Amino acid sequence: MDFLQPTSLSEALAMKAERPDATPIQGGTDLMVDINFDRARPSATIDLNRVPELMDIEHVGSDVWVGAGVPYLRIMRELQSDAPGLCMAARTVGSPQIRARGTLGGNLGTASPAGDTLPLLVAIGATAEVASSERGRREIPVRNFIIRPRHSALESDELIVRVRVPKARGPQQFGKVGQRNAMVISIASFGLAFDLDQRAVGTGIGSAGPVILDAPEANAHVAEVFSTEGLWDSAAPLPDGVAKRFGELVGQAASPIDDVRGTARYRRHALSVLAARSLKWAWNEHRETTKGTRA
Ligand SMILES: Cc1cc2nc3c(=O)[nH]c(=O)nc-3n(C[C@H](O)[C@H](O)[C@H](O)COP(=O)(O)OP(=O)(O)OC[C@H]3O[C@@H](n4cnc5c(N)ncnc54)[C@H](O)[C@@H]3O)c2cc1C
Repeated sequence: MDFLQPTSLSEALAMKAERPDATPIQGGTDLMVDINFDRARPSATIDLNRVPELMDIEHVGSDVWVGAGVPYLRIMRELQSDAPGLCMAARTVGSPQIRARGTLGGNLGTASPAGDTLPLLVAIGATAEVASSERGRREIPVRNFIIRPRHSALESDELIVRVRVPKARGPQQFGKVGQRNAMVISIASFGLAFDLDQRAVGTGIGSAGPVILDAPEANAHVAEVFSTEGLWDSAAPLPDGVAKRFGELVGQAASPIDDVRGTARYRRHALSVLAARSLKWAWNEHRETTKGTRA
């Protein structure tokens, strides 16, 4: 196996153009497992750990650009106020060791519908910026990044450079259900983001379809009830039944299968519960933080 070690992004992109067969490696927490279990035998790897451009966290206006090589630990330390939901998701990944090595770029690169950061990234409308040495940069909505399990929209000469994370404009939540509490691949996961400026709700559903899904009908239901009941202005308690209905609509938006981790029926049920809870928790948090400012 050839081992390529670029020290800049332009060098990395040139290597990827010359060796489209080469597999990038960042934290290695997915790739090394595949190699160890003989599921992957790359002819070459491109080690991205010496590419400084991938390690940046940059605040630009209403967005934070998070480098593909930024590990979860840094996300948790540096983005709590701008991306609280992403931090929640990061905290659920693996163990402290995995969070110190594993990255956002790697979570995207693996293109698994069970990737824990992805539902939240979909809920907030994040995009992945990718680049090739020939065609330059382009942005792919995270919603469209996975095209089927383990296959992404990335071309063979492209690398993920960074992720555009819109700064939080309201409370966010992330939850996952697994066979145990930690170090577990999710059976179902759910991300929720309120956008109080746009008076909208975003959702993302993981491990319950071939790709990360959203739940447009559930989002529209909440937005409509909140408008009709004047909740955006009053921040009054959630009317009876809203969270339950939201949960049902999220469950209906999923497209799960039966597999070794859980049945499709269980996944839908778990998602309904996760979604209803997330809505209640997020709204209660908003009510708590605005308590002193309400008439
Ligand atoms: C014990 C253990 C527990 C885990 N628990 C969780 C969990 O709870 N939740 C979860 O979501 N994941 C979990 N994972 C999986 C893994 O840690 C994450 O998916 C992590 O984000 C991968 O990041 P990485 O930098 O280590 O990726 P790597 O292994 O380096 O790469 C993963 C894939 O992405 C590609 N890639 C990496 N960077 C780029 C780039 N810049 N451009 C293009 N392609 C790129 C690689 O080629 C490879 O295909 C776990 C893994 C282990 C070993």
